[in-house]
Amino acid sequence: MYPHIDNLMDLLVKSQLNALSALFNTDILRPIAIQKLDILTHEFWYPGIPRDINKYIGKISSPSYLSKSLALLEQYQIHLDPTISYGITGGHIPIVEYLPNLSSNDYKSLRNKRIMYLNQLVSTDGNYLLTWNEVKRLNNNNFKGPKPKWFKLLENDFTLSNYRTLTHPLNDNYTIPARLQQIPDQSLGNHKKRNEWTYHWDARIQNCIIGKTYIQDTDTCSSITTMEHYLPFNNSSILNNVTPQSPRSLPLILIPCSGCHLNDHSLILQDARIKCSISIRTNRLSTFNIFNRLNQEHKRFKNLPLSKYYVSTKPLHQIRHSAHSIYLAQHNVNTVTTTIITPELPSLHDQNHVLQQLSSVIASALLCDDKIKLTLIDIASKFFSYTNFQFYSDGSVSDIGTINSKSGFGWVQTNPLLPQISFLGSTIFFPSSFKSESFAILTILLVLPPNATCEIFTDSQNCIDAFNQRLGSPIISP
Ligand SMILES: [Zn+2]
Repeated sequence: MYPHIDNLMDLLVKSQLNALSALFNTDILRPIAIQKLDILTHEFWYPGIPRDINKYIGKISSPSYLSKSLALLEQYQIHLDPTISYGITGGHIPIVEYLPNLSSNDYKSLRNKRIMYLNQLVSTDGNYLLTWNEVKRLNNNNFKGPKPKWFKLLENDFTLSNYRTLTHPLNDNYTIPARLQQIPDQSLGNHKKRNEWTYHWDARIQNCIIGKTYIQDTDTCSSITTMEHYLPFNNSSILNNVTPQSPRSLPLILIPCSGCHLNDHSLILQDARIKCSISIRTNRLSTFNIFNRLNQEHKRFKNLPLSKYYVSTKPLHQIRHSAHSIYLAQHNVNTVTTTIITPELPSLHDQNHVLQQLSSVIASALLCDDKIKLTLIDIASKFFSYTNFQFYSDGSVSDIGTINSKSGFGWVQTNPLLPQISFLGSTIFFPSSFKSESFAILTILLVLPPNATCEIFTDSQNCIDAFNQRLGSPIISP
């Protein structure tokens, strides 16, 4: 009996398989197996056994026994998962997997520089490629010579903008809250979606960015949206002529940005009319709507000297607030949940106005150092969005009857749902415990927002009596 040539190959594969399984599954041979894995890792510059070993084997000048056997087995669709848990710390996305077309010289350069993972080259959030100088700094400036070819490849082919945004950002290590706009499956591949309005928070400029989607590129791993930048039109003198003087109805008029520092010059758009374009991951974006051109809300601004404008259905402060909250949630920053904007709350403009009034009352009510006034104004602004307060106050007098006599007072806000701010003060001239207790109450009342309720716990019977007396009398006196 002579074996057929195909069977001969089968036998060869079987014997390789047996040798390998003996190597990996025999306790006494385990150190050798690990050593072989180390060599494999060094050869492929990949932690462990790569999925598609034949893709990489061509780049190795003299492959080791293990890589040759694994490559052979791979041709027969046999993949080995070692029972040994093996890995290299320092990242989770191997560069050779991210850049599949590296040359053997690139491999050499990566090995020499000990750079195995993309995580060693990108910002901590996984979205931006670091500059070569930053990479060098991270590695204690141990690299000599010019910027390597593989790094230039990353820069040229794998980043999108002058902000070095990666086209395939690394997997997030945080969860993204439910995005308002889901990416439908059928949108895989180059996809256009012209009439989507989006906003997102830009941490670099600490502001909300609004844009109209120009193009959305989606593949299985990620989706990038390129948008035309829009700015709020805020020429209040013109707006005042067309709108009633109610700040609550102040509409958000959007006009195309004529080009700002956010413009990504590397993007080449088909539409020359777009002067400022930005690209960003689609799942960073939230959507909002604009009024139809035929809607009265749009038409009422047609006399403005604007060649092109859109009117948002949501006011700017609401969009800004939403953008910021989503950003904080994406970065696992806890926000105070009581500040959710509801239509009942006064608009930003109203708030500013009332805060200004509060500050002017504080500024005129007390004779004291400006610093103390500023502290109280600061407290007032922190308390501003709350309504149910609870205070404990106390007052004391020292050295009564002498020239150094001072009375001190203090209070603390104790409702656990609100900022727990405390304040300490002292008064000179005519010290008395009644006066210091009253000052505590006065300063509490000064920092409270209008229409707030508060409970004040004081041990001053004098104050309570005076308060109850005054309740009945219409006269206001100091
Ligand atoms: Zn712009």
